Amino acid sequence: MTAREKVTEREFIRRIRERLPVAGGDLVMGIGDDCAVLRQPGGRLLVLTTDTLVEGVHFDCGWHPAELLGRKSVAVNISDVAAMGAVSRFALLSLAVPAAVPSRWLESFMAGFLDCLGQHGVLLIGGDTVASGHEVMVSVTVGGEAAHGEVLYRSGARAGDEVWVSGELGEAAAGLELCRQGLAAKNPGWQQLIRAHLDPEPETDLGPGLAASGRVHAMMDLSDGLATDLAHLCAASGVGAELAAEALPLSAPLRDAARHLGADPLAWALKGGEDYRLLFTAPPDARPALAAIAARCGRPLACVGRIVAATGVILCTGRARQDISYQGYDHFA
Ligand SMILES: [Mg+2]
Repeated sequence: MTAREKVTEREFIRRIRERLPVAGGDLVMGIGDDCAVLRQPGGRLLVLTTDTLVEGVHFDCGWHPAELLGRKSVAVNISDVAAMGAVSRFALLSLAVPAAVPSRWLESFMAGFLDCLGQHGVLLIGGDTVASGHEVMVSVTVGGEAAHGEVLYRSGARAGDEVWVSGELGEAAAGLELCRQGLAAKNPGWQQLIRAHLDPEPETDLGPGLAASGRVHAMMDLSDGLATDLAHLCAASGVGAELAAEALPLSAPLRDAARHLGADPLAWALKGGEDYRLLFTAPPDARPALAAIAARCGRPLACVGRIVAATGVILCTGRARQDISYQGYDHFA
């Protein structure tokens, strides 16, 4: 491709997809979901995902401790596996490092990386290390497994479903902004925002729990912001969604940081990326089952809208309606 003819990330992926065969045989799901899904002998399903973090784009070594970066590079992949309802089992690590990076940085990175793998029972089974010009690049591939019939895709949402998210939204975007402005240590009350950016916690209990319940129709993780991720889910399902602005879960520290920075907390929640929370849809009568799973996993859930027979994602604020489809993070913008 010529240097940036300003193709969007979505368009670029669509063009790749056009050239690939449709799923079939042992391939249950190819490109276009949080993970690829392959049928294994015996009926189990193998799920595979890969994610890359680039210095200066996804992290800044000036404020991102190497150990937490090691943890995050695992967590973002495990989040994709959990979003399929699967359990992570093994990992491959590809690391590109400039000569100027000190060995103690690498040791700290690997300590965090292995610590996060161990915490989730995932085994490092191989990888590659190469030299890089100026930036550290971390690429991680994670494989996991699930029982047949317990994997959830983006494509299952139906008109009439309710739209749910886990945890609180926008925290990582707020934490990133605080780090950027050198305010990370200013207010102890903001620490959960800083942590959300530096050391996100994937929904490893909730994802498989929701999938095993049989009550959830579609699920994905939130990595590019609700406005974009919900638009992906809707497009894959052939439906639209209406979000209720007042229902979006915004924490007190998030509102406080937004006041301090003169930022819009709603914009962080809708457009900020890297929340690594779950986004899913379920019929209204699934509420008691969802409440039981949330209680068992100790994770809050919020109903933020509904799926409709339309296209696009509409934000409803009182009587005002605004199309916010794909207004989140675009890696090619
Ligand atoms: Mg994802």
